[in-house]
Amino acid sequence: MKCMVYLETLGGKITPPSAEALGAAKQLGETMAVISGLSASSATGDAFGYGATAVAVLNTLQNEEFVAEHFCEAIAPFIRDQKPDLVLFPNSFECRELAGMLSVDLDSPIATDVVRIETRGETILVERPIYEGKAFEKIALGEGIKLVTLRARAFNQPELSAASNGTIFGIDMAAKRMVEVLAKSEAQGGVSLSSAKVVISGGRGITNCKQLAGDETASAKRGLILLEELAETMGGAVAGSRAIVDAGYLPYSHQVGQTGKLVSPDVYIAAGISGSIQHIVGMRSSKLIIAVNKDPEAPIFEVADLGVVADLFEYLPALNEDLKKKLG
Ligand SMILES: Cc1cc2nc3c(=O)[nH]c(=O)nc-3n(C[C@H](O)[C@H](O)[C@H](O)COP(=O)(O)OP(=O)(O)OC[C@H]3O[C@@H](n4cnc5c(N)ncnc54)[C@H](O)[C@@H]3O)c2cc1C
Repeated sequence: MKCMVYLETLGGKITPPSAEALGAAKQLGETMAVISGLSASSATGDAFGYGATAVAVLNTLQNEEFVAEHFCEAIAPFIRDQKPDLVLFPNSFECRELAGMLSVDLDSPIATDVVRIETRGETILVERPIYEGKAFEKIALGEGIKLVTLRARAFNQPELSAASNGTIFGIDMAAKRMVEVLAKSEAQGGVSLSSAKVVISGGRGITNCKQLAGDETASAKRGLILLEELAETMGGAVAGSRAIVDAGYLPYSHQVGQTGKLVSPDVYIAAGISGSIQHIVGMRSSKLIIAVNKDPEAPIFEVADLGVVADLFEYLPALNEDLKKKLG
């Protein structure tokens, strides 16, 4: 089988999830690596060392921002030329965006967040978690060049051998970019979530106000007001679990967790959040975790320094009033 692996680099080194992808590809057949990123060319030696038989370096400009459209425009013709059976990517945001775009350009089947790959004759089968990790599905990828993103740490990183050369290709970026990033700035208003010392975070519990039973949207609005009021009193930022971001009550930029922001404030208040592992990985390094949940068995209490078993619609306003008095 002919494989290709898209590698990300950081500081001239291949990232661990990229090395894992190379390891997975090596088990399946001959592997060509495509390297992107600043000082990508200094990582070619390691790509050979991890088992690539050829390396293609994406000739980006110095300090070039990742813009999926530009990378896709450059890489798609190269993939079409090389005709690999399978292209593997790490499961980063950028790679998922790029792989998604390539799948449209190449008219290819794609599977994301894959944890196992096997072959049955010509067919490639992949396994990935579904229903928030409660079950796994096995799917057969259809015709064409198959694209797969791999979950980090699901595959072993291969040993780095001394081999440090082989065939090197260059992939040119289009001279004219469709999009130009002129500047980046933080959204205005409120405290920035990443640098906030206090984070008041709400979960699906904010959609469950007894007095507004049956009206989830009105509950969520009321819940968000409570989070904002407390954030204002404490000089903090408002955040949320994926459940309320997916439901559209908070923008994605406020999501904490595995697929959101990683935060480490002095105080993290989790209100109406059950404490799934995907949420906890985003906030567990907070110095003081206070959990408010009406279910005493909620897993969030296992990581909380202070646990309050209460209805958040009763507890948060009381806490806010108390703090307002104390903080003057
Ligand atoms: C690949 C993947 C990535 C993911 N990434 C993330 C991520 O980045 N961030 C994230 O948060 N999730 C993520 N998830 C989703 C995660 O698995 C959970 O589904 C999600 O965190 C649950 O959100 P929740 O705790 O708000 O909701 P629920 O699990 O529904 O919990 C709601 C909680 O509120 C409590 N409650 C209800 N009413 C009240 C009330 N009135 N007062 C007090 N408590 C109340 C309940 O007892 C319950 O514990 C991801 C999942 C997958 C599969």
